[in-house]
Amino acid sequence: MILSLGQATRSYYPKLEISLDKICHNTEVVVRMCQRSGVHVAGVTKGFCGHASIARAMVDGGIDAIADSRLANLKRLGDIRLPKLLLRLPMISQASEVVEYADISLNSEIETIRALSVAARLKNRIHQVILMFDLGDLREGIYDQAEMFHVVEETLKLERISIAGIGTNLTCNSGVIPTKENLARLIELKRTIECGFGIALGIVSGGNSSSLYLVEEQTMPDGINQLRLGESIILGRETAYGHQIKGTYDDSFKLITEIIEIKDKPSIPTGKLGLDAIGNKSSFVDKGIRKRTICAIGKQDILPQNMVPDDRDIIIIGASSDHLILDITECHKAYQVGSLVSFHLNYGGILSSMTSEYVSKSFII
Ligand SMILES: *Cc1c(COP(=O)(O)O)cnc(C)c1O
Repeated sequence: MILSLGQATRSYYPKLEISLDKICHNTEVVVRMCQRSGVHVAGVTKGFCGHASIARAMVDGGIDAIADSRLANLKRLGDIRLPKLLLRLPMISQASEVVEYADISLNSEIETIRALSVAARLKNRIHQVILMFDLGDLREGIYDQAEMFHVVEETLKLERISIAGIGTNLTCNSGVIPTKENLARLIELKRTIECGFGIALGIVSGGNSSSLYLVEEQTMPDGINQLRLGESIILGRETAYGHQIKGTYDDSFKLITEIIEIKDKPSIPTGKLGLDAIGNKSSFVDKGIRKRTICAIGKQDILPQNMVPDDRDIIIIGASSDHLILDITECHKAYQVGSLVSFHLNYGGILSSMTSEYVSKSFII
């Protein structure tokens, strides 16, 4: 049976159990910490497909704006009365919907901003842009300062577009860590633009969850006044160095799967070996006869490297598209066919199992 995200309270397995309380709590911890450093929090909802109940838990926790990379998710969250920020650079083909469902978008291409201006005129709206500057991570953003000035100059000529500020994104592509030094370049750029054009830039958006450690250490440079935070709220994880943020939960999402087979089998396959279901060649270590189980979930829903069994005696052997294979030989618990096995997830695991229609979602309030 396939249920859409909206219908998702009926329970079947595999099931994601989501604690709205824990998400709200994590949001409060992170928002409070940011407030001390004068930083507003745009709560990033893309990790859970912009699911409205989860987004509400973030709103209850005190976020200042909703941010997502997918327009479809922002559209789903239209009822929430907070500014909506589109994180991924807009597609020109979507300009009209961008203006409709997002108040602000991150931009680096003047052609796109021109298309947004046309769309905003047609809809009689004002659309705000944050101009992205690449500080070296080499994903999105204008790399060259002269080009930045050119884009500012051209944007100021456009009707119905206002420049809300400038921003940057780090760590996502090359792993470049936000520091006082590279963020100082962004603040310097802001001052130069303000002086050069006689305008005020309200927002200086200093990155994602990998910038949060500067707030924790209270060394965030003055002038950075917004962070866009997803993983640090959902999992309580700071992502520059990967530590757990004090006082947060790392288990607001839990995945529960059902066992459909338990058999004693050798650890080495029988027969001539070709490629597995995904086209890879596998290698095997002979550990003798082992107790193996199959859980009804697979790579179509989640990759095995993104999940950790709560029962630490379970070893994940592997997965194909619809089968997850576990070694339970060392387990103290007496698993049977029909028993449930639960897993802790990382950000990628939450993202893909939230996206899968085959995984039910249920909320623990
Ligand atoms: C995904 C994304 C974020 C949020 O990243 P987290 O690591 O989840 O905090 C922020 N900004 C941009 C541009 C993004 O694409």
